[in-house]
Amino acid sequence: MAEVPGDIGWQFDNTYTRLPNELFVRVKPAPVREPRVVVLNHALSAELGLDLRYLPAEEAARLFAGQALPPGAEPIAQAYAGHQFGGFTMLGDGRAILLGEHRTPSGRLVDIQFKGSGPTAFSRGGDGLAALGPMLREYIISEAMHSLGIPTTRSLAVVGTGGTVRRETKLPGAILTRVAESHIRVGTFQYTMARGDHGTLRSLADYTIVRHFPELIGHPERYLAFLNEVIRRQAALIARWQLVGFVHGVMNTDNMAVSGETIDYGPCAFMDAYHADTVFSSIDHGGRYAYGNQPTIAQWNLARFAETLLPLLHADANRAVAIATEAIHEFPGLYEEFWTAGMRQKLGLCTAEAEDRELADVLLKAMQEAKADFTNTFRDLSTERLPTTDFFGTSAFRAWNDRWQARRDREGQPRAVSVARMRSANPEVIPRNHLVEEALAAASDDGDFSVMHALLVVVTSPYQRLSGTSKYTEPPPAAARRYRTFCGT
Ligand code: AMP
Ligand code: MG
Repeated sequence: MAEVPGDIGWQFDNTYTRLPNELFVRVKPAPVREPRVVVLNHALSAELGLDLRYLPAEEAARLFAGQALPPGAEPIAQAYAGHQFGGFTMLGDGRAILLGEHRTPSGRLVDIQFKGSGPTAFSRGGDGLAALGPMLREYIISEAMHSLGIPTTRSLAVVGTGGTVRRETKLPGAILTRVAESHIRVGTFQYTMARGDHGTLRSLADYTIVRHFPELIGHPERYLAFLNEVIRRQAALIARWQLVGFVHGVMNTDNMAVSGETIDYGPCAFMDAYHADTVFSSIDHGGRYAYGNQPTIAQWNLARFAETLLPLLHADANRAVAIATEAIHEFPGLYEEFWTAGMRQKLGLCTAEAEDRELADVLLKAMQEAKADFTNTFRDLSTERLPTTDFFGTSAFRAWNDRWQARRDREGQPRAVSVARMRSANPEVIPRNHLVEEALAAASDDGDFSVMHALLVVVTSPYQRLSGTSKYTEPPPAAARRYRTFCGT
């Protein structure tokens, strides 16, 4: 129970600070003018063993603005590097501060991190601050992803700072409290490689294994097993993104978490109409991070990760490269397995047939040609009687449908079983871009947070059927279809 007034049950154990010094720099959150709570995640705080219910609003605001550090917190900025759009750079937390690791009542260790709490040694000329809109965006989308069952960092709180941040215009400032399995990135390993420091590399690898892959402790080839497991988790993660139409938008190696969680919600967005070339980010001119490229980019990033582990994989450099290459080549097959298994669920199939991949591809191709809404098409496939309008009226769909029904008949399962399977795999609601924008505009421009709270309620129960027509399930109006996102810096 809380002993100190304002102590809400923190159990900090600052394990990362016990790693070699070059991996972090100590730092203090900057003072803020007038912190005010915008949103607190009570469900998440309960999971973490934190009790926010009796914390007075002003104390909560000071706590999540970094103005009153929790007992035991030892704030640091983490060093890392990364390939940004293919180019290698030394980076580090430029506008994030890790308070430390909190141990939950079930014994899980989670990072507690502020985003937007002032400059650090890694700010490289940036102000270390964040605007309210992008922090709320991360809150909404990360919580929606979690509710969709997709591994992700979480959002515990957003507070307004009372100050402004200068971007193209002056915007209200805010701080997000992010919770993660860890913030160890592919780029963290690249940082040790760039410094040529094998001792630090080994410490980081051993630390990561203990923290995320404890089952590998004592494994005779633990670094290879570690590499394989990171590859497997990313294959599973990217498949999940593809299956809900999520476009991350900035899959730089510093934005790929070794834990297998989705991290860094900058220019990400969900697809409305299905198209493999979908790109939202205004700076992604070449479409490097387009929806259809995400698996290929993930594999490229994993190859960069494997490179960092070479000294640990084999004393002989050529042998090490051969081992790493073989591991990386497993990615496409693993990804394909996860994706096809997920598609079977989306199509209500319980058994596996060799042509299932092709069956799904034919549907997606027809959807792309008809510009069919990704979420609603899969949702409607499980309705009793399919509508005969729009996409479902096309000859391409009807031909595919005959094939699909025959495939379902071969399973010999009652349709109700198939439908239940589909309903648990096809969300009714995703955080659609035009709705997210509407919520952020109300919050940032008018100080009205009710639109965001209403949106949060529906996107955090994404599989729940909504009765009748709902603004939350409608595709965007024509005017909002050329959606563009900007990096939240
Ligand atoms: P991101 O695009 O958010 O993944 O950030 C890429 C790098 O830029 C990271 O090292 C960030 O810490 C840094 N960065 C982003 N925004 C800012 C900012 N406003 N001030 C300082 N550093 C920043
Ligand atoms: Mg980042």
